[in-house]
Amino acid sequence: MTYIRRKPRKVIKHDIIATHTICPLCNKEYCQRHSFGKRLVYGLYNNYAIRVSKHYCSKCLKYFSLDSEKFPKNKRYDSEVINEICKLAKEGHTLLWIKYYLESTYNLCVPVSTLHDCNRRSLNGDKH
Ligand SMILES: [Zn+2]
Repeated sequence: MTYIRRKPRKVIKHDIIATHTICPLCNKEYCQRHSFGKRLVYGLYNNYAIRVSKHYCSKCLKYFSLDSEKFPKNKRYDSEVINEICKLAKEGHTLLWIKYYLESTYNLCVPVSTLHDCNRRSLNGDKH
């Protein structure tokens, strides 16, 4: 039996922070920062400990968090990972092959349900 010794992934700190921003729902300007949120996002090579600012819109009476192109909202994986999965799926690899490939190449474990989701969206022609 072979045992693959894996290097622990690096955790990189990343901030997506503003003192005020524009509401994505009603475009109201100067929504003040209310608090900070934290989440962990998995990239191809590193993990990211992300600190985001949460804002409050006094017009919609709703809270929302900032995001960025590399770290889309409510995603556990960054856009590099998603693009890689879409690319491999388009090349015709099976989801289990992609899962194994990501684990062995990037030391990244992605559940098959996530792969399935990416694959379905790439087949529909959405960017993501
Ligand atoms: Zn609003």
